[in-house]
Amino acid sequence: MTKRIIYGPILSRRLGRSLGIDVIKTSDTKKNCNFDCVYCQLGHVPKKITGTESVKGTVTPEEVVEGLRSYHKNIEDLDYITFSGTCEPTLNPALGEMIRGIKEISPHPICVITNSSLVDKETVRESLSEADLVVATLVSGYQKTFMAINRPAEGIELQNIINGLKEIRRMDKRPILGIEVMLVDANIDFPVNHTEREIERLKEILIEIDPDEIEILTVSRPPAEDYIVPVSEDRLKQIAAEFEKMFGKERVKLVIKGIKKSRSKMKHGNVEEEVYDLVMRRPCTFRQISASLGINEKELKPIVDRMLSSKKITETAGETKYYKIV
Ligand code: SF4
Repeated sequence: MTKRIIYGPILSRRLGRSLGIDVIKTSDTKKNCNFDCVYCQLGHVPKKITGTESVKGTVTPEEVVEGLRSYHKNIEDLDYITFSGTCEPTLNPALGEMIRGIKEISPHPICVITNSSLVDKETVRESLSEADLVVATLVSGYQKTFMAINRPAEGIELQNIINGLKEIRRMDKRPILGIEVMLVDANIDFPVNHTEREIERLKEILIEIDPDEIEILTVSRPPAEDYIVPVSEDRLKQIAAEFEKMFGKERVKLVIKGIKKSRSKMKHGNVEEEVYDLVMRRPCTFRQISASLGINEKELKPIVDRMLSSKKITETAGETKYYKIV
């Protein structure tokens, strides 16, 4: 099945009903990223993109605007249009132009979810400045932990990322900056990032960056590495309380479970393609597919069964079954 640029809407724990945009199209890899995070829900991909010059199949601003124009006709209740998906959006140099193009045809706020890898580049920060909200990942204030958890492509240094994030806050025209702190635990000897030492360091760095929001979350979908497990709810709450004390309640969000909305007024085209597009970007349970796409479970069941038997999608082992592409 071919991948479409626009997908969803996805029901996001953070953004509500969010229509996704993927800005790199390839058919031979599950993700186009310069990181290979141990917690990645898209699985492990050994071939990382080394930089913007090695990206193949970048989407153009015209494709995004046209794709959205036709998709847009079907959606009435969106909270965000979000650049995310199977790629790191800042790897596409035309990101800023795309955002400007969307703003001409859509009233919805625009979010870019980024792994922060390229924020040290001025051109990338300029692109991000066009968005309403930038959600940038930061897993640690220590280079060693950052390397172990994010497994970046060669040449990406934590200190450059921190400097770039600080620069975003200093820009005259700037988006709301949210820092996403993804905390992981492990069932092997691994440099996890929820220890006291790690949290203290993160607080120091976050004071320097001074973001508008800090989101604390943990793994909620099957991660790339089996040894990665979620941080306990108690520990997450403890950490959130520490952050709140330092940064204020209104700036800290603890993202645990639950989704904001469950109805969609989306009119459907090819439901099989919509399901495929959704689970390609984000493995989902049956109920999550139903809620995201606004299809009742009775109608959805034969479609998912058909896709399973034709091996377009597969289901994960374990108590909670997630559907993902083969
Ligand atoms: S979690 Fe995001 S940044 Fe990390 S490897 Fe997956 S797609 Fe890339």
